[in-house]
Amino acid sequence: MTPGIKPLVAGNWKMNGTSASLGEIGAMNTGFDAGLQQKIDMLVCVPATLLFQASEVARNGRLQTGAQDCHARSSGAHTGDISVAMIADAGGSAVIVGHSERRADHGETSEAVREKAVAGLGEGLQTIVCIGETEEERKGGKTLDVLKEQLALSLPDQWQGGELVVAYEPVWAIGTGLTPTADDVAEAHAFMRAELVGRYGEIGNAIRLLYGGSVKPGNAKELMAVANVDGALVGGASLKAADLLGIAAAYLEI
Ligand code: PEP
Repeated sequence: MTPGIKPLVAGNWKMNGTSASLGEIGAMNTGFDAGLQQKIDMLVCVPATLLFQASEVARNGRLQTGAQDCHARSSGAHTGDISVAMIADAGGSAVIVGHSERRADHGETSEAVREKAVAGLGEGLQTIVCIGETEEERKGGKTLDVLKEQLALSLPDQWQGGELVVAYEPVWAIGTGLTPTADDVAEAHAFMRAELVGRYGEIGNAIRLLYGGSVKPGNAKELMAVANVDGALVGGASLKAADLLGIAAAYLEI
């Protein structure tokens, strides 16, 4: 945690879910009660096909909804892509950019991620920029070098409108059940904090830094208690309301 920063627990449904899954959104929205909301913010980034319906389900609640990617341009001949205005129009208040699965599956470079981040922030969206090292890079002792470069290239120099959030997601920890030690997470997050303060000054102290990679109800308390960890980006365990709320509940004990 960082003193003065309200944590964010954000779910990423990836390519999972149909309208049959909307009951989970309803259960998350109901379960995210006033007590939890005093402690944290909560967000679920669903597939684009579900965003409007999920946003309607959560409309009168505290749960926020968002998308998992966007195009950097506002409109045009980009078959299959969605713009930040479309996300907002569908009721989304957030977007994830630069997830390692997008970087790997679609060849997204950090420069392309930065353009998407600029678009998301310009639309007023909470924009979660993901970075993280591969297993090979970690084994080669390059973790902090990778984070430094990805931060430098994936984040905009300046922005206005939305909130910039950074998510540290070691690629080898995503969907594997493996997690770094609390000490490793602390080292990475302290490094990111220092980089952000070096680049943006005092604003860098207010940027939420999420940890992502196999966060579950059983390990959330330990990981979320680490210094400079201001919440979680959760994949698999965000599909079920009971699991995501179980992670959120860790904040009642920290
Ligand atoms: C993710 O996809 O951002 C993620 C962290 O996945 P998981 O929680 O399943 O490791």
